[in-house]
Amino acid sequence: MNIELIAIYAILIIGWPVLIMMSILIIKRGCGFCKKLKGTILEKLMKPTVIGWIYGMFMLGIVSTAYMLKVHWYYAVIPAFLTFLIAITVIYIAIKKWEKEAIKLQAFYNNLEKLVKERTKKLEKAHEKQIRHEKEIQKLKDQFVFIAAHELKTPVTAIRWGIETALSESKGMLKPEVETYLNDVQASNLRLIRLVDDLLNVARIEAGTIKIEPREIKLNDAINDSVRDVESLFKEKSITLKKEIDENLKVIADPERVKQVLINLLSNAIKYNREKGKIIVETSKDANLAVVSVSDTGIGIEEKDMIKLFTKFCRIESNENQEIEGTGLGLFVSKQIVEKMGGSVFAKSKKGIGSTFGFTIPLKE
Ligand code: ADP
Repeated sequence: MNIELIAIYAILIIGWPVLIMMSILIIKRGCGFCKKLKGTILEKLMKPTVIGWIYGMFMLGIVSTAYMLKVHWYYAVIPAFLTFLIAITVIYIAIKKWEKEAIKLQAFYNNLEKLVKERTKKLEKAHEKQIRHEKEIQKLKDQFVFIAAHELKTPVTAIRWGIETALSESKGMLKPEVETYLNDVQASNLRLIRLVDDLLNVARIEAGTIKIEPREIKLNDAINDSVRDVESLFKEKSITLKKEIDENLKVIADPERVKQVLINLLSNAIKYNREKGKIIVETSKDANLAVVSVSDTGIGIEEKDMIKLFTKFCRIESNENQEIEGTGLGLFVSKQIVEKMGGSVFAKSKKGIGSTFGFTIPLKE
């Protein structure tokens, strides 16, 4: 055996296992990448590609070694073929081991997934139960408020008519201080009536039983009626009212509900205004909607508080409105009513300068 042949044997015997080990290393490194290919056609092509690559390298090795040593290529074939067989066996064992680990990992993953699903289901059930429980409590609370307000409505209305009759029938016959007491009782009773009405409205809105009967109405009429209803309040604070109204606007709405919303906005504009302040009631058109707004020159609202408006029991804390009474329900009720009639509410304000509250309502075609 000449020296060249020994060199070929040495290269093939030492070189091929090194190449194979490198191949296995590359495959193992590529494991993360292989996971990404899971379920795709590339995953199926992976094994034959690796084997093909090693086989290709093997063929290239034989030819190039034989060429370099200038010997006939078949001197290299036998040892090369033997090492190739060893390589295939090593790769096969590695792949099998790899597959076993993958199966174990898959089983672990499946188990984990099952466990997570079970826990999530349990949590969802508990959450649903909690929500159901909260809804039941809320329903009971709403029912209680509705019943209480409903039961209060009859006596407070009776007190109102009783005092009104007593005051008108006994004109000039009562001692002045008694008349003052009766007037105070009447004012407190009216506040109570408003609170009862607001609570009833909220309860009806939440139960979905609020009655809204839309029909074609003249917006101008609803505005004039509402202004008339709060006329005495305007006088009390010497507030001047300006109307910039399109008299021909016709809308599809429930007249009583439109009045309810307008009275609420107007009484707020008076309540939160300064003495001798101003209020402007405006109407305009925006596409197929009528826009109504009530602007005042009152205390205004800070930017950060704007988001709270129109929510239930919203009372904005400030030095200026500490003394002003209210339930925090008027704007909430107004919003619900306007939305039920197909419109929306809006508000703009600047602290210390004034506010504009308004709503839109569908125009008659
Ligand atoms: P309230 O009965 O308290 O007036 P509303 O729901 O009508 O209830 O109003 C909620 C809150 O919004 C009021 O407490 C007040 O702080 C603020 N607000 C409403 N209208 C005005 C306004 N025109 N100017 C300033 N603040 C207002």
